[in-house]
Amino acid sequence: MAKILIVDDSRLIVHVGKTILTKSGHEVILAQDGLAGLEAAKSEKPNLILLDLIMPVMDGYQVCEQLKEEDSTKDIPVIMLTSKAEAADKVRGLKMGALDYVTKPFDEGELVARVNIQLRLKELYEALQEKNRQLQEMANRDGLTGLYNHRYFHEHLSKDFLRARRYHESLSCVLLDIDHFKKFNDTHGHQTGDVILSTLGRLIQDSIRDSDLAARYGGEEFALILHYTDGPVAFCVAERFRRTVENHEFHEKSETLRVTISAGVATFRNEQIHDSKELIEGADKALYLAKEKGRNRVEMYGIED
Ligand SMILES: [Mg+2]
Repeated sequence: MAKILIVDDSRLIVHVGKTILTKSGHEVILAQDGLAGLEAAKSEKPNLILLDLIMPVMDGYQVCEQLKEEDSTKDIPVIMLTSKAEAADKVRGLKMGALDYVTKPFDEGELVARVNIQLRLKELYEALQEKNRQLQEMANRDGLTGLYNHRYFHEHLSKDFLRARRYHESLSCVLLDIDHFKKFNDTHGHQTGDVILSTLGRLIQDSIRDSDLAARYGGEEFALILHYTDGPVAFCVAERFRRTVENHEFHEKSETLRVTISAGVATFRNEQIHDSKELIEGADKALYLAKEKGRNRVEMYGIED
């Protein structure tokens, strides 16, 4: 069942249209001039509009044009109603975005068939859009961990950086790397290594706020974007996560395994950082320092001790 709006200045036509479509299971709302039709389209959000072209004051062409200009109504399918007695220009209506036309007086079978075809096409189109959205989402994700991938991370970070600079917001970036992961893989095998990676992905996702973004940056490297977050808070987030990993027991094939991570934090606000590339480089330098200082620790870029 769909909600259908009939806009026509003829009482007879709206009455007959309503009778036919109600009988075939649809809910029908009526408007007897263009302006009322526009209002009803906006407030009632019908699934389809049957629109008379020849009406006083505001004709169907104008209504169609305005429907197509407005975001909330532009995707509602429109079928024109044309009568043999009135010289309506069907081509002009189609150019303005109507999808089809039905001739008055109605042939019951034709009206129902044309309405149902457009409703079905709309459904298929929406399903296709949803599928595209899902594919796009998959293309942005890392298959193993479910986190965002490297490419998406960079796209996001450069946009986030511009916004942070424009609105004087804090923005931090954290790079995390599993310590001695190559040795781990050599000892336990890559499959077990993959279990560690996917579990870490879940731990990261569980520990960040909704406003933050986590990505798998490379092999055993992860990256976080922390919005509205200054250096000390970002350090705490990284340090808390480092401890979570240190205390986590990974269970695989009746073995209990442990890993540690090192992390580097960089924050925009640091005067050495002018763009998103320098933010990442800063986090990478801090990560390198954490490795040098013995691993299983967090370091901040630009703070000497
Ligand atoms: Mg008319």
